[in-house]
Amino acid sequence: MGVKFKGDFTQQEPIPEAGIEAAVRVMRHGRLHRYNTVAGEVAETVLLEQEFAAFTGAKYCLAVASGGYALGAALRALGVEHGDAVLTNAFTLAPVPGAIASVGARPVFVEVTGDLVMDLDDLNAKILSSGAKVLMLSHMRGHIVDMDALMQICDGAGVQVIEDCAHTMGADWNGVPSGRHGIIGCYSTQTFKHVNSGEGGLLITDDADAMARATMLSGSYMLYESHGAGAPAEAFDDVRLDTPNCSGRMDNLRAAILRPQLAQLPAQAAAWNARYRVLEDALAQVEGLRLIDRPAKEGFVASSFQFCLDDLAAAPIEAFLASCMARGVQIKWFGADRPVGFTSRHDSWRYTEAQDLPRTDSVLAGLMDIRLPLTIAPEDYRVVAQIIREELAAVIP
Ligand SMILES: *Cc1c(COP(=O)(O)O)cnc(C)c1O
Repeated sequence: MGVKFKGDFTQQEPIPEAGIEAAVRVMRHGRLHRYNTVAGEVAETVLLEQEFAAFTGAKYCLAVASGGYALGAALRALGVEHGDAVLTNAFTLAPVPGAIASVGARPVFVEVTGDLVMDLDDLNAKILSSGAKVLMLSHMRGHIVDMDALMQICDGAGVQVIEDCAHTMGADWNGVPSGRHGIIGCYSTQTFKHVNSGEGGLLITDDADAMARATMLSGSYMLYESHGAGAPAEAFDDVRLDTPNCSGRMDNLRAAILRPQLAQLPAQAAAWNARYRVLEDALAQVEGLRLIDRPAKEGFVASSFQFCLDDLAAAPIEAFLASCMARGVQIKWFGADRPVGFTSRHDSWRYTEAQDLPRTDSVLAGLMDIRLPLTIAPEDYRVVAQIIREELAAVIP
């Protein structure tokens, strides 16, 4: 065995000092609930919503308890009901089909391409066969499909698009921020995403009616007029007594931690991408290893790195992963029979109707994933790449 890697792939950076100080201020005054303010005070939650609306260019923003909560609220805000079909990716994280199931709707899975984005031919076919009126599009692992083509298909078919931007906060397609193509964009501020408040979510839209409904759903009671980036008061007239309170607010402590991180996000994105490029360069032209194509229009934020071992069977893949692990390089494999740690594949969600997705299955069979924490220096990823090259060569027949 050669050199061993010492980095920790799950270690986050600390919260910026400005965030820690802001959090301590909130704890000192004790007004953690977003609607608990004194005269003249603007809650941290409201400030975060205003700043995130400005960051994305959206008219309205709502902070909520988690990314998954934002997705569920988005479906409800668009009127998705029990039994409705909702299109979504066959390859995503469990909270996405979970949000669809939480409103009693039925996920209809769409195939993923070898470049890890939604297959637009299959999307067309599934729109026709399912009659679904909503697509919950997941930009899984930060890969963004041709959004101009996708929106043309969906607009043409009268399908509303909710974007799951858990992996694309700060990213864009052709200069338009991720989350701004569809009617609603949803983000997660959970520890393993682009900003970290432990748990949390954000929902943006330009649609006043959808924002009013999402706000009532989140548990605003009749206090919605204190939202600085909220829908105008008249948008609530029709919904305030007709929308259930499915309590899921964000609190001022989390918002205080997030605001300085949001200000740092462009710099953080550049730092992630620098690490990505180190791995991409060092793994180009390695026998048996396919890199994912990144289109010029995709302004990505690479907090993780994917590669495919398309021609390897399960046994050599397992041997490769075990020997990388023994050398300190932790790689996730989306093709394992038995999911470890998380689920990301349609057939792991047995509460949904079983569906045939041969293309997705064959892509995921060889799909590898590495997290790119900023606590590991860019040049250290060269060692990671070296270990991958050596251990791959050892299992290739
Ligand atoms: C993390 C994640 C979510 C949901 O985020 P939570 O805040 O954990 O609920 C949704 N979609 C994807 C792809 C995710 O990775």
